[in-house]
Amino acid sequence: MTGSIELPLMRRAVVHADRIEVVTDAPVPSPRTDEVLVRSVVVGVCGSDTHAAHGRHPFIPIPYHPGHEVVGVVEQVGPGVTAVEVGQRITVEPDLPCWTCKMCTTGRQNLCENLQFFGCGWEQGGMADLFTVPADRLHVLPDDLDDITAALVEPLSTPVHAVRLAGEAFGSGLDGVRGRTAVVLGAGTIGLLVLAVLKAHGVGTVVVTDVQAAKRDKAISLGADAVVDAVAADVADQVRAALGQSADLVVDCVAIEPTVRLSIGLASKGGTVVVVGVPAADVTIPLAIVQDHQIRIQGSATYLPEDYEESIRLLQTGAVRASDIVTATLPLEHVSEAFDLSASGEHIKVLVSIGAPSVPTA
Ligand SMILES: [Zn+2]
Ligand SMILES: [Zn+2]
Repeated sequence: MTGSIELPLMRRAVVHADRIEVVTDAPVPSPRTDEVLVRSVVVGVCGSDTHAAHGRHPFIPIPYHPGHEVVGVVEQVGPGVTAVEVGQRITVEPDLPCWTCKMCTTGRQNLCENLQFFGCGWEQGGMADLFTVPADRLHVLPDDLDDITAALVEPLSTPVHAVRLAGEAFGSGLDGVRGRTAVVLGAGTIGLLVLAVLKAHGVGTVVVTDVQAAKRDKAISLGADAVVDAVAADVADQVRAALGQSADLVVDCVAIEPTVRLSIGLASKGGTVVVVGVPAADVTIPLAIVQDHQIRIQGSATYLPEDYEESIRLLQTGAVRASDIVTATLPLEHVSEAFDLSASGEHIKVLVSIGAPSVPTA
């Protein structure tokens, strides 16, 4: 002891180009005006995290502080905060909009022209004992939603948003998919959750493709009417045969050239292709078919608060169950292993526990 003031320190995960470490001497941040200090409880590992860790994400520079699928407890509120109270359980809506650009002032802050993203290149992420975030980025969790299930609110909100946009092609938001024929390309976390949202909103026949048999089996167990091996030479014919027709809507959760081309080929005339996977590279598409078949190609980027509310509702009603989606939960000290599991292709959603998360009762 030299008489210097000892600052409170905490653990925090840091993703480097070649490794993921947990430092134990990160300074505890203190909440500024309109900010909240949150104690992390459990955080999901996202496909964007593992892509970033391998330097393959287009918009996340490394090193970075990961963790945007966060469940935590409000530890302290900064000046001016009235929307949440100390002790409340929350999840974070991690986009950090500027609130002043054209998109932000027209209710489309997910498309903010100056968008920052908590846990994705931002100075802080949720894979730390504590973090600060603007209070308006928090959603208070209902008591009947356990922490493990609540960790799915963020990842589920991306599919909810995508299905909402798909449904709007038919004029009526989420329920616009009712009775429609649909194809989901890719049965990873996003694809399986897209399937669950489609089913919850009354989709007609839905076919799922994936390269892995285990993921195809999972899609069947979550309600797909048929599954097709994505590497089959006649995948388009098999999907069409299973649908009995071409698809009103195709959701591409892979977003590589073969899946984008397949999406356009499977879509019916006047159909919609939603691109929700994060493309690693540009692709060439059959533009003549897009024009002649009047196909709508719809990008889908993150979510809006109403998507969060819908996700919470779907999780509360059991339309999506953590037991179907969460395949591993590791403590923060094992975050590197959690990333490896997440990238292995053997898992659906891998979580990192920082505190002691409550678990589903049923
Ligand atoms: Zn994510
Ligand atoms: Zn903005």
